[in-house]
Amino acid sequence: MTAIRRLSESIVNRIAAGEVVERPASAVKELVENALDAGALHIDIVVRDGGQSLIAIADDGFGIVRDELALALERHATSKLPDDDLLSISTLGFRGEALPSIASVSRLTLASRPKGASEGWKIAVEGGRVGEVEPAAMAEGTRVEVRDLFFATPARLKFLKSPRTELDYAVDWVHRLAMAHPSVAFALTDGTRTPIRLSAALSRLDRLAQILGRDFAENALTIEAERDGIRLSGHASLPTLNRPTSREQYLFVNGRAVRDKQLLGAIRAAYMDFLASDRHPVVALFLELPPAAVDVNVHPAKTEVRFRESGSVRGLVVGALKHALAAAGHRAATTVSGAALASFRHGPYGGGYASSAPPPRALAEAAAIYQAPLMNSGASMPPSAPEPSLSATEQPLGAARCQVHGTYIVAQTADGLVIVDQHAAHERLVYERMKAALANGGIKRQGLLLPEVVELGDAGATRLVERQAELAELGLVLEAFGQGAVVVRETPALLGQADVAGLVRDLADELQEFDQALSLKDRLADVCGTLACHGSIRAGRRLAPAEMDALLRQMEVTPHAGQCNHGRPTYVELKLADIERLFGRR
Ligand code: ADP
Ligand code: MG
Repeated sequence: MTAIRRLSESIVNRIAAGEVVERPASAVKELVENALDAGALHIDIVVRDGGQSLIAIADDGFGIVRDELALALERHATSKLPDDDLLSISTLGFRGEALPSIASVSRLTLASRPKGASEGWKIAVEGGRVGEVEPAAMAEGTRVEVRDLFFATPARLKFLKSPRTELDYAVDWVHRLAMAHPSVAFALTDGTRTPIRLSAALSRLDRLAQILGRDFAENALTIEAERDGIRLSGHASLPTLNRPTSREQYLFVNGRAVRDKQLLGAIRAAYMDFLASDRHPVVALFLELPPAAVDVNVHPAKTEVRFRESGSVRGLVVGALKHALAAAGHRAATTVSGAALASFRHGPYGGGYASSAPPPRALAEAAAIYQAPLMNSGASMPPSAPEPSLSATEQPLGAARCQVHGTYIVAQTADGLVIVDQHAAHERLVYERMKAALANGGIKRQGLLLPEVVELGDAGATRLVERQAELAELGLVLEAFGQGAVVVRETPALLGQADVAGLVRDLADELQEFDQALSLKDRLADVCGTLACHGSIRAGRRLAPAEMDALLRQMEVTPHAGQCNHGRPTYVELKLADIERLFGRR
């Protein structure tokens, strides 16, 4: 055994650096946070070779006086905890470890000229050894240069990704900080390209538009909510504007960018009804709560937080997002149509139809025809299909005029036309009705005249039989039938005449993908998607005029009918004015 001894300051700093400076982007983040804490309005960043050869940050903040330059580089030296009060932290920094940690694994120069001072001073550190204070010719503010990051820790160096990727990480961090500080101008260059050039923005939404694009600003819902002293604000995309990962979900707690699993989970829960599980909305959400209600001192990198009342934070986030989504009703994102057809528009009625007057009696009857299970006899067309009622054109989604390619319904509205993706729309209706039926005591089933035996193979049959009880609750009654097969006895009535074998096979496949721990109700959107795929209004099926109108009327009274369960729009609208423009009449 060797004797216990105190580690030297430079080793302690290097150990801390392991946590504080995971990669160049973490150094960029810490230095930009320092500039923001110093009240800077302009922050210029240079990142060379992904930050490995150089990170330079210049700000116009209040600066550091000459006598404190050396102290700023010492461990646990900070100007930000004036009352030693860890319970009311209002700055981004507070631990006093960023500068010494970065300096311990690089060649760092800190130069500053405080506001009003006649000259600047600088101090250099190499591998933890601090040099003398020397004069520096510079403008007011602070300049930090970090060269050869990790030269003293080759192991860390080896884990760095390509300069391009490291640069992306840095850009991402600066974006996050910039979102929380819209009035500050930022620039980041790598010497040849300038991936960030943000002038001071007038509002947060402007800043978000600068970073996330106009698309986001145009397709985002405004979120505002407050409860128990916790305030939530920000913007969240309509489900139709979605991404393959949650990377573009920006979360802030008291102005601090965080990556919090609980908050990400709350967003997922709020959008669950609107998006496939592999699609993610774009959001920028800002939580403000009393400093004492949140602990930011969880990890040296300060990207994790702990809420005292995590349940109410989650409730607030889920509730506010769901509320905004429900209020958006049919409004689908402009991006989809924008990309597809410049003049097509999605319904501009942000209010949703659910709140508008109930459909007139004739329409309600048409809707009833649609709602009634399409009988097993194959008589899917009502005996006397009424002509589309004239007053239907007054309805938001208009009167069905024809079906094209067996897939799209074209309807005439008061001031334009609407094209509906019949399958996507039906999928949404099935889902919303199943949800309502589940809430109101159960889903109606219809017995099959001849129970249908479906061969699935052992694994598939077992998966279905394991979920037998849950499936029955969703209206699908089946049981094991010998080796590797099931017999289906009843199907959900609202599917109409379903293609039973196809449905059961797809469900068996899907169950394989589903997390065992999740109930089918948790995956209702997916289950309904699969059910609807094999229901009566699948793509490619011809619809009678009354069926089409009934579908439109149903959409008008169904919440969230503007997009299918996977976030694609269910209809697009073209205004007469746009048509006239297309033909040069305007
Ligand atoms: P912390 O930010 O947690 O206080 P740092 O090691 O990042 O710790 O910085 C130490 C101190 O150096 C800060 O408290 C601050 O007083 C000073 N400082 C660092 N960067 C700047 C800057 N850009 N402008 C003004 N002061 C700065
Ligand atoms: Mg700091």
